[in-house]
Amino acid sequence: MPDLMDTITSLAKRRGFVFPSSEIYGGMRSSWDYGPLGVELKNNVKRAWWRSMVQLRDDVVGLDAAVIMSPAVWEASGHLEVFTDPLVECLNCHQRFRADHLAGAHAPQSGHEQDESTVDMATRPTCPNCGHHEFTDPRNFNLMFKTHMGPVADEDNAAYLRPETAQGTFVDFALVQQASRKKIPFGIAQIGSSFRNEITPGNFIYRTREFEQMELEFFVKPGTDEAWHERWIEERMRWWTDLGIQPEHLRLREHGPDELSHYSKRTVDIEYAFPFTDWGELEGIANRTDFDLKRHEQFSGHDLTYFDPDTQERYHPYVIEPAAGANRAALAFLLDAYREEEAPAASGKTEHRTVLRLHPDLAPIKVAVLPLSRNERLVPTAREVLDLVKVRWMSDYDDAGSIGRRYRRQDEVGTPLCVTVDFETLDDREVTVRDRDSMTQERVPIEKLPEHLKERLA
Ligand code: ATP
Repeated sequence: MPDLMDTITSLAKRRGFVFPSSEIYGGMRSSWDYGPLGVELKNNVKRAWWRSMVQLRDDVVGLDAAVIMSPAVWEASGHLEVFTDPLVECLNCHQRFRADHLAGAHAPQSGHEQDESTVDMATRPTCPNCGHHEFTDPRNFNLMFKTHMGPVADEDNAAYLRPETAQGTFVDFALVQQASRKKIPFGIAQIGSSFRNEITPGNFIYRTREFEQMELEFFVKPGTDEAWHERWIEERMRWWTDLGIQPEHLRLREHGPDELSHYSKRTVDIEYAFPFTDWGELEGIANRTDFDLKRHEQFSGHDLTYFDPDTQERYHPYVIEPAAGANRAALAFLLDAYREEEAPAASGKTEHRTVLRLHPDLAPIKVAVLPLSRNERLVPTAREVLDLVKVRWMSDYDDAGSIGRRYRRQDEVGTPLCVTVDFETLDDREVTVRDRDSMTQERVPIEKLPEHLKERLA
């Protein structure tokens, strides 16, 4: 039985979800390209997040800030100083690793304030590459990508690719609040690329150096922060399970005091049972306190307090931050949806099928239109049906091979519904709608098809 990650990685490549980047040049472990189905899946993940976090809420507004910001931002935020991971090198094979990821080494798991002295290498962890046990002492390695703005490459022109979207939100807090006239409690949501020079990227799209984050900064009155934190933990757990992640594959994990990030009062991770590790972070939900706004006020000299017109109070809001990765989310949804099943075939025998039981909102293709054969009498009606469908939903048209094989191909990429046009359709103007999960089939008049599909995909 092949490993589930290998199965998903090869399905992703074969069916056009995710390919290794620059593969003709040997590929890169830390960069991946999203193919025709992958771009749909990732867009659907982001759309589902935006819908739940912005569109359906009247207390959250959106923002799309720049990737390259003033370098002063990273000084104020603390990233230049403490956004580091402990780096060690194997003395035998000279491969480099993140010390806290070596089995046996004890260290704060993912704090960005790692101190070399907090990593305990006395247990003599094993090198995953060569099996030896001797390493250099851990040293702090800053994860930010550094570049230069403009033609002169000197320190005065240093710039950084953002390692989180959140700082754009903090820096724009006052502008957004005034423009949107939102009163606290309210949030600012952002989806966008972030960059981290990870020491050990890997596990397919789980850990890469370039990835997309979906982050909400929710501003609250100090004193109400702990209750809001609890609410957001619940809300976010519900989002994952509403979109089909099996609840037993999720858990909450509280950060210990030694692993809290420098800005955090309390952080709870939503973890998923990834097959390559016991549990891996999907989303972190942090109480960032008033750390960021106060630091930006101090460094920029701009007042970043909020004036409450009802109570006439002025204060620095506290921030609750649910921060998830779009790529990790796509991976979790793929893994969780994957099934291999025995299914009845047209011959009456059973046949093996692979199916992605993706939530319809996430499925790359919602409806596939399948003429029974390439017979030219079927084509005009099949095209007419496609025209009806494609204006509303992402659709596919497939007329190659037996109908059974075409159903299997759609099952394998998670298409919830297939619409088949056969010779009877030409007489009665009815099509067959076939359901991915139950494999039941229903005859539906073409004229009622859009309404029918709308109900089924709701
Ligand atoms: P980890 O402990 O796995 O390094 P983190 O605690 O540093 O993650 P956060 O800073 O909380 O991650 O970022 C929020 C989310 O962004 C994570 O939950 C994850 O989904 C995503 N993320 C972070 N780093 C990466 C990465 N290198 N590749 C892909 N997604 C990432």
